[in-house]
Amino acid sequence: MGRLVVVSNRVPVPDKGGIAPAGGLAVALKVALEEHGGIWMGWSGKSSGEHEPQPLAQLQQGNITYALTDLTDTDFEEYYQGFANRVLWPICHYRLDLAEYGRKEMAGYFRVNRFFAHRLAPLVKPDDVIWVHDYHLIPLAAELRAMGLKNRIGFFLHIPWPPADVLFTMPVHEEIMRGLSHYELVGFQTDHDLENFAGCLRREGIGDELGGGRYSAYGRVFKGDSYAIGIETAAFAEFAKKASTHKVVKRTRESIGDRSLIIGVDRLDYSKGITQRIDAFERFILANPAQHGHVTYLQITPKSRSEVPEYEAMQRMVAEQAGRVNGALGAVDWVPIRYINRSIGRHILAGLYRLSKVGLVTPLRDGMNLVAKEYVAAQDPDDPGVLLLSRFAGAARKLYGALLVNPYDIEGTANAMARALSMPLEERKERWKTMMDYLLEHDVTRWCDDFLKDLTGRPDLPGEHADEARVPYPEEAGIKASD
Ligand code: UDP
Repeated sequence: MGRLVVVSNRVPVPDKGGIAPAGGLAVALKVALEEHGGIWMGWSGKSSGEHEPQPLAQLQQGNITYALTDLTDTDFEEYYQGFANRVLWPICHYRLDLAEYGRKEMAGYFRVNRFFAHRLAPLVKPDDVIWVHDYHLIPLAAELRAMGLKNRIGFFLHIPWPPADVLFTMPVHEEIMRGLSHYELVGFQTDHDLENFAGCLRREGIGDELGGGRYSAYGRVFKGDSYAIGIETAAFAEFAKKASTHKVVKRTRESIGDRSLIIGVDRLDYSKGITQRIDAFERFILANPAQHGHVTYLQITPKSRSEVPEYEAMQRMVAEQAGRVNGALGAVDWVPIRYINRSIGRHILAGLYRLSKVGLVTPLRDGMNLVAKEYVAAQDPDDPGVLLLSRFAGAARKLYGALLVNPYDIEGTANAMARALSMPLEERKERWKTMMDYLLEHDVTRWCDDFLKDLTGRPDLPGEHADEARVPYPEEAGIKASD
């Protein structure tokens, strides 16, 4: 293959010493970019006020070019905060009640995608392979095609894909579906997401499933498949082993004493099921008086998207809830829930996961959930903890050794907590090994290789031959701010 061009909303730019921010995706894509040479393009995270952003800032590191653009305040509000975070995010997490449609925001989303395409296109060579990431950039391929690019372009969606009845509540669902049809390969996290996508095509006759993972819609043929994203399993396990000597981890161990530690780690987001989880923990303590004073639940919850009203309201709600439970159940010498709103470095998290007897990962809906995978990778093979996992997390489709729970079932989740804490060592080891074997084999590098192999190496992909059947992409997706 030629060079690789990765496009994502945010770019993990290395610091001055050339060290990229930690995180499996950044590591895996950096390896692929180094191997093939290429570009990683995205938003700088900075605003240009209301001025036209400066030309792309380019930073060369080895044979990778990081290409960053600023956005105007209006673009940021409409594209990112507006359509991406207040329409696509809730819709893809099945929360159509929280989606806030606005014509301005929808138009802003398509406008910024066009802007990205115009900035990226001059950097692209004819044999480059382009890999677009996530829900912020669905229309990007269509915009690049409209500029005449014939490169192979793949798309991977990191979040869930909803069923037709949920998606179709979104006024621009057709434009979004059409946007996806401009890629050669569309990747989802799980077979469920892929099935939902196929269902969206079938409903109202938008398209067809042709068999062999091929789909047709809007006069184009493309491939869809599922690729469960992994973590850098071996490296993370190594981190966790070493982290036990880190001073924060040591102090935590001392402060926990002989109590059992239960851990939850989630961005503060309504999709993560944090309030239901605290309810379940309360129920578990009330139903198991013998556990009073013997268990500590550590919930690490960095704030996210605080500028969105739903998130701000949730911050208050969860803090109040944790305070109420501690007030009602705690004792002079025992605080049942330690609730922290700060982000913790992954090397410390690794050590905290390893200290914990139970990892609580109970989202109401999640594309994959990397915390679930990290929790497993961090465990001591001779005395592993138990993963309690929501059946609605993508990770549940593969982590067969987890205790699966329905996070809406508070009593069931509480019972699972009791079961996890009393699980015999042999069963814990057996469950952990099943998951760890899977994670070692299916790490993030394998995920990246599998996707790129399918994007670049498959003769059955339509590639540039599809353009005979191409239909023009509608101006601003047919939406004007004044509609
Ligand atoms: N994370 C972190 N510090 C924190 C909380 C989370 O570094 O305080 C990391 C965590 O280790 C994981 C990622 O953030 O790698 C969260 O990914 P996940 O797929 O679980 O959820 P998302 O936030 O992407 O919805």
